[in-house]
Amino acid sequence: MPKGGCKPFSLLILTVLSTAFLANMPNFGELNGAPPLTDVEYRQKVEELLKAVLGGIEEVRGLSPPEEVSLRIISAEWARENWGRRYVEANLEKIKVEENIYKALFLLPEDAGLAEVLVEWSGDYAAGVIENDIFVVRENFDPKGAWAERTLAHEVTHIIQGEHFEILEKEKHDEKQAWAALIEGDAELTAGKYMERIESLPASETAVLLPAGFLASASASNSGDLPFMRILRFPYDYGEDFVETLFERGGWELVNKAYSSPPVTTEQVMHPEKYFSKEPPVEVDGSSPPLPPEWKQKRSDRFGEHFILVVLGTWIPLEDAAEAAEGWGGDRFTYYEKGERYLFVWEISWDSEEDAAEFHDAWSRMMKTLDSEEIREDLWAVQQRYFQLTTEGSTTLILSSDDLSALEPSKSSGILSVWLVVGVTFILATALAWWVKRKSKARVSQAFPLT
Ligand SMILES: [Zn+2]
Repeated sequence: MPKGGCKPFSLLILTVLSTAFLANMPNFGELNGAPPLTDVEYRQKVEELLKAVLGGIEEVRGLSPPEEVSLRIISAEWARENWGRRYVEANLEKIKVEENIYKALFLLPEDAGLAEVLVEWSGDYAAGVIENDIFVVRENFDPKGAWAERTLAHEVTHIIQGEHFEILEKEKHDEKQAWAALIEGDAELTAGKYMERIESLPASETAVLLPAGFLASASASNSGDLPFMRILRFPYDYGEDFVETLFERGGWELVNKAYSSPPVTTEQVMHPEKYFSKEPPVEVDGSSPPLPPEWKQKRSDRFGEHFILVVLGTWIPLEDAAEAAEGWGGDRFTYYEKGERYLFVWEISWDSEEDAAEFHDAWSRMMKTLDSEEIREDLWAVQQRYFQLTTEGSTTLILSSDDLSALEPSKSSGILSVWLVVGVTFILATALAWWVKRKSKARVSQAFPLT
């Protein structure tokens, strides 16, 4: 079975996030007035639980864990330094760009630093996995707590995944999220079934099942409230339902198969029927508009349906946001910087003109909620950030910058401004797409005569 060398660090981040929501829970031992465990007792207790999980999980998941799984007990401070700080320092520029994008979309407060939030958050994890090592964070993981064994079952599932499947690094945000949803959803479903099995065993000495809604209510970390955290939580919020749908349809065999044909969009995870019908994302060219050379491209990505849902859902009712994000076909988000200034171009392709119009309305509502000033139709100013929305057929185009002149036709210089160039490019591209579509339809009808 394929088993790569060192798994990329990002995978570690993903595998530990799930348990972050379990952190900050009251220590049951302390609440009961029991004396805290000594280091030796603590290790013994975790080892006991781990042994039980390693012995019982194959029966649940149908795949065996490796012979050697080691346990490392670490402190929250160690996690912050070695997971959080190290990751952040190795990715400073990338994180800065991400921070700017979140702020540009009002998903992160102006005064927040993404790097610091990530470092802090890494100290909230309860457990994590790298290769065949399980890390347990002493302050956040209570081996006497009701969730302890479940958490270990989740983590052991990650080790099983690494042992039996090829875990590949994906490129686009949307695809990474979909892949992570499969991984985390599998771990959650397995952990849940593992606990069901324990409950059904006679004379069980094991922990009780998690109360319903436990995960949702256990997000005690302050950073968990920041809107962008909903993006990070996607694999946990949607993964289990997705994998359960696979399981109900074809058991673990179908779940295993998904590792060689994983979902490629958050849309497929959110609407599993689109996974089964293999609805691919529309490739949005979004080819870099001919911007003046001072604008440097810093990121180009596909954000996907869920990202759009989070952006809208932060400001308008979640149900309306979900409805507006549905019908997503594909998108391309390109982010540029010029000194301290930024500009992004976000082209979204929708399944139909109605879907595009629905998004247009939802976006306008969001702008209103943000207390914007509408400078002219579909051009808004919000806290020194400017947004221009254009809809052409089934495509929407958002241009945004903190430099208004970047969005407006140049009045004095005689040089076409960014807005004009992008606008013209967009209209030409839309016309071209329409023409190509028409041509291909014509071809189809020639190949399949009406009967
Ligand atoms: Zn996980």
